[in-house]
Amino acid sequence: MPPVFRFAPSPNGYLHLGHAYSALLNADLARRAGGRLLLRIEDIDAARCRPEFEAAIYEDLAWLGMRWETPVRRQSEHFASYRAALDRLGAQGLIYPSFESRAEIARMVAAAPWPRDPDGAPLYPGTAKQLSMREREALMASGAPYALRLDMAAALAGVGALDWTEDGVGPNGETGVVTARPEAWGDVILARKDTPASYHLAVVMDDALQGATDVVRGQDLFWATSVHRLLQQLLDLPSPRYRHHPLVRDASGAKLSKSTRATGLRELRAEGASPADVRRRVGL
Ligand code: GLU
Repeated sequence: MPPVFRFAPSPNGYLHLGHAYSALLNADLARRAGGRLLLRIEDIDAARCRPEFEAAIYEDLAWLGMRWETPVRRQSEHFASYRAALDRLGAQGLIYPSFESRAEIARMVAAAPWPRDPDGAPLYPGTAKQLSMREREALMASGAPYALRLDMAAALAGVGALDWTEDGVGPNGETGVVTARPEAWGDVILARKDTPASYHLAVVMDDALQGATDVVRGQDLFWATSVHRLLQQLLDLPSPRYRHHPLVRDASGAKLSKSTRATGLRELRAEGASPADVRRRVGL
């Protein structure tokens, strides 16, 4: 079976040099391995994703010379499969709703030093786990916003040590067989009242459903892989190999953002840059 690579942008802005690097690296690796290349539109967050950004993704990638298989998988068309995964975790007693906003959580943990996840957010203190079934149901029925969280301690109790094969390199040089540390994320959010799946849940389901064998993506997602390995284990899904690549940075060393025009593919194209120029700029 040929290896299956995928590039999975979110249509919440225009693509920049960092996306070009990730997309072209996936395409190059797939070609060299005689593999397949899939494109996936990660548009689960309806509040931030827009059709014009999706149209621009196709246009910019085609301009770069990329070819991908169709039909393209769009997450917004697969809510039922995420729901089924969530139900399966719920049936194992691993999901509970929490009702605090991000600001409330920040206040709750402000008094003393408090552990933070790899992205720097304070770990959820687990308060809503204490609510009775009746209190939960009343709050949900009241229309209050909520997040559905993974009960990390309960989830870990049922699985052994987890690792993944890293063909790239982590932020501290991690490579080869890397030990997953899902506990570092605490009770992660897997869905919200109005969002049927978080990034973690959707990416794990889609990589499995699309048969991805090789996940090539930015180093900023390196430690998220710990959560992905845990979800794969809980949902009986195969684990792909991973290759996290360094991020393209601007002249000041900062991570590129979708709103910085200087490194946007559309702007570079308007200024007369060629796809070969883009390749050169990202070192491919
Ligand atoms: N959609 C994610 C992003 O735009 C990438 C997800 C992945 O490659 O796993 O950053």
